[in-house]
Amino acid sequence: MRLFPFMRRGTSQALSIGTPTSRTSGSRCRVTAQVAGREIWFESADVALTPASEAFGSAMLVPALHAARPLTLAAPACETWVANLRPLTRSFQALWYPDAPAAHAIPDRRPTTPASDTALCFSGGVDAFHTLLAGGRPIDTLVYVVGYDVKLRDRHRASAVTRLMREIAAATATRSIAVATNLRRHPLMRATPWTRAFGGGLAAIGHVLAGDPNGGIGRLLISSDGLGFEHPEVGSRPSTDPLFGSEAVRVEHVAPTTTRLEKLRRIGGERIVQQHLRVCWHNTSQRFNCGRCEKCVRTMLSLDACGTLGKFPGFDHGRGLVAAVDALASVDGIVMPFYRDLLASGLTGPAAASVTRLLDRSNSSLAPVAPAHAPAAPQPAARSTHHRLLGPEAFAHVCEPLVGRRVGYVRPVGNVGDHLIELAMAQLFATYGIRWSLVDLDATDRGASPRSLDSLDMLVFGGGGNMGLRYQGNHDLRGRALATGLPLVILPQSFTSVEDRTFHRVYVRERSSLAYRPDGILAPDLALGLAWPEPARPTRDLGIYLRRDQERSGRKPFFARDPIRLAATPADYLAFAARHRRIITDRLHFAVAGLHAGRDVTLVANDYHKNRSMHQTWLGNLGCRFAASAADAVALPRRAA
Ligand SMILES: [Zn+2]
Repeated sequence: MRLFPFMRRGTSQALSIGTPTSRTSGSRCRVTAQVAGREIWFESADVALTPASEAFGSAMLVPALHAARPLTLAAPACETWVANLRPLTRSFQALWYPDAPAAHAIPDRRPTTPASDTALCFSGGVDAFHTLLAGGRPIDTLVYVVGYDVKLRDRHRASAVTRLMREIAAATATRSIAVATNLRRHPLMRATPWTRAFGGGLAAIGHVLAGDPNGGIGRLLISSDGLGFEHPEVGSRPSTDPLFGSEAVRVEHVAPTTTRLEKLRRIGGERIVQQHLRVCWHNTSQRFNCGRCEKCVRTMLSLDACGTLGKFPGFDHGRGLVAAVDALASVDGIVMPFYRDLLASGLTGPAAASVTRLLDRSNSSLAPVAPAHAPAAPQPAARSTHHRLLGPEAFAHVCEPLVGRRVGYVRPVGNVGDHLIELAMAQLFATYGIRWSLVDLDATDRGASPRSLDSLDMLVFGGGGNMGLRYQGNHDLRGRALATGLPLVILPQSFTSVEDRTFHRVYVRERSSLAYRPDGILAPDLALGLAWPEPARPTRDLGIYLRRDQERSGRKPFFARDPIRLAATPADYLAFAARHRRIITDRLHFAVAGLHAGRDVTLVANDYHKNRSMHQTWLGNLGCRFAASAADAVALPRRAA
């Protein structure tokens, strides 16, 4: 830590929430609080909002834990809510943040009588429709939040979804409330995976709606995600959502064990669902559902299995279903069981045959079908089970902004570890339907036609550990990429020193790099999202592999073998790591390769913060051990088998 005294101060500094205030101008009511020096607001033209401390505290709890900063509230908060902070924090510590500091708030002991209304968070998807129509709870109010699944600046789409919600409210004799918020623009929220933070974000809406004397709400319903189990990366859970509640408003998580298919069976026959269902991730066209992305296709197949697809105009009554399935290059390991379930539960005819073809394609190759000019991704061996450390949803904040854009990929100068990152990127881009191609900036420099650049909307620079001045070749390459005038996004990287250029967006893959690039958005190294077949059993016991370049920490041991010299391709690298039962290495992606194989891996420090910070930010949670030196690593007790 001696090298980064400013960081220690930065990481322990409290994340303070000021006393919220409310203001009404015309028909709009806005509640505001200063959060770590920036304003967060919630606004509605439908009802009076309450300046509840608990709203801002609920929304920012996970971001505070993610930043390893203790959350403190200036204004007193409901005694029950304050008492729940401790178990809530413990739950998130157990999931993701073992060392995160506790939150502090002053309990307010004034008695409160909750209002009688029940509200449902509603954006037109399967889960909320299921809660509305078959959740077994009387619902008085539908609430849609502008700024969560649809960005504030996407006004056209926000008003279209708001209109959709109001039509459904009118048809189901419920009240409708639209709330807008800039919560997701806050830098600490942007640095946190939304999949982890959105439970608190939804609970916040309950708190600002609780105190309206003309019809506040006393209960907020959050629908489960339809996976049917608790995904380790998802922060809206049956055990945690209720703990965000207070005396004034209860928060309930509905139907956690019901799957999407079961939900669609219950509600697919309802005319209102047939007319209004909205599931698409892409949000690109005027229509609510594109009918081509994986999520649209999966929903269409489920409806077909239920026998109701023909009644859905939003999916063109199922015309083109088989073609849409055949157009998917492959599906991701995490959703494959879903497709198998479809075959086992009612899907027949040409649709079933197309799903069988899709599963065959996905089994034989998880690598995407590459565009003609994209780099060829190595083909993993054919297996039926695939392992991944983090699912694609952990990368949503990296991938979703690229959907619908024509993306040029700038490949950093690197070694086999960097190629592993690129392979994972190709898989993730295919999963999200991102169109991309490799851009050769050297060719453009040599006077080759820049036509290829004209057809692009933006450039992305590959992930790795080469930001700053230390690796000159990559620094220069970024300079050439910026000179094209296209917006440049930096995929998850580590900073070796400050690089103060103007990038469109910068993702950093570990917390220590935020000291060099405070506007960086934290995101996992893309290689953690790689899908890869289960490897063969190990044939060797301990492997110690250490780098021999300038980045090694300490003296070069005479026995040091650098693993990047022992493998030419990512597939070789993964297979070589898997051969060992136990691995000690200071090569970050050799450690990642060992973790993919489920091995006992100890990552050793390199000469700057990279390995230590990667371990603290992600790898410790994924079962990796850490040691300051190879000698310390050897001395660690063996992990119990
Ligand atoms: Zn779609």
